[in-house]
Amino acid sequence: MPPPDFLPALLRPELAELHAYTPVAGDFPVRLDANESPPLLSAEARAALERAAAPEDWGRYPDARLVELREAIAARCGAEPGEILAGVGSDEVISIVLTALSRPRQGAHAASIVTVSPTFVMYKLSARARGMRAVEVPLDAGWDLDVATLLRAVEFARPNVVFIASPNNPTGALMSEDRLEAVIAAAKDALVIVDEAYIDFSPRDQLALRRRHPNVAVLRTLSKIGLASLRVGWLIGAPELVAELDKVRQPYNLPVLSQRAATFALRELDGELRRVAATVTGERERVARGLTELGLSVAPSHANFLWVGTRRPAGEVFDALAARGVLVRSFHASGGRLAHRLRITVGLREENDRLLAEIAACA
Ligand code: PMP
Repeated sequence: MPPPDFLPALLRPELAELHAYTPVAGDFPVRLDANESPPLLSAEARAALERAAAPEDWGRYPDARLVELREAIAARCGAEPGEILAGVGSDEVISIVLTALSRPRQGAHAASIVTVSPTFVMYKLSARARGMRAVEVPLDAGWDLDVATLLRAVEFARPNVVFIASPNNPTGALMSEDRLEAVIAAAKDALVIVDEAYIDFSPRDQLALRRRHPNVAVLRTLSKIGLASLRVGWLIGAPELVAELDKVRQPYNLPVLSQRAATFALRELDGELRRVAATVTGERERVARGLTELGLSVAPSHANFLWVGTRRPAGEVFDALAARGVLVRSFHASGGRLAHRLRITVGLREENDRLLAEIAACA
């Protein structure tokens, strides 16, 4: 059916270049495509979460100010509650940041963001959906920041926001500290978001950057550590920034169940979440060794997934694995150096064994 006549004239032109985010549908016995954590929470932890999540009154809105949740997050991250903005996943936090910080620089038609390539797609998607320009600077051959090119991009694009995920998705590794710091110093007129979605699997965090640079905010989430169903993510930033962003946040954005379960998890399940992270990290190293023994190239990972180089075109390996019931993530549609790369989330031990057996037959 053709679109209704009135629609084209109303749509933002940028939408023509965007696609809705749709994970691959289908029944795959082994899903290693979405960087969730495998089901490693103990039965006791799951039962305690269910008890904690239940609302006292199903008829009432949740706490619009997220008081308890922000206190629990702040305590965990060594921050003040006024430095925390919580959203429906870090996805919502990214969209709030971009809605609030979209004022064009003097003389420009639109505001810009700068990020790297490849990286998490929502930075660009969210920016384009708001009519902002997105400048992507390719990572270097070791998937680290290309500082010289980034500095040029910052100088010419004069971005409002710079997004750097570290550890990065889909490449897995932390960015070098000195390079990240050089970009932050060069972008002192912009907000630099250091996205630590995968920090629970990493040997170090980057919270100290916030103390050294007032233009840095850190993004975190519960999604990778076994609680993706809650959709809880947050930003840690200066209280003045958080107060402005809060004007854009929807009232009652986080449901009661998510607020309560997340607060409980942050306060009471620290040991359990650390155990999940340690199990995933151990499996990550085992799978990396297994893949390397099969002759595949595996980039060092500080996340809950591996960035794997394939001999055959990645699209063919992806299809062959999917036909064998194992769903991973391929970026071959982007072409270039991504045409021989797969991103494989670490799963349960038996899922990982199945992956290793199947990929041996088709990579
Ligand atoms: N940042 C990065 C780098 C990610 O990879 C993801 C998830 N794919 C997110 C943020 C979003 O996480 P969520 O919205 O589930 O908190």
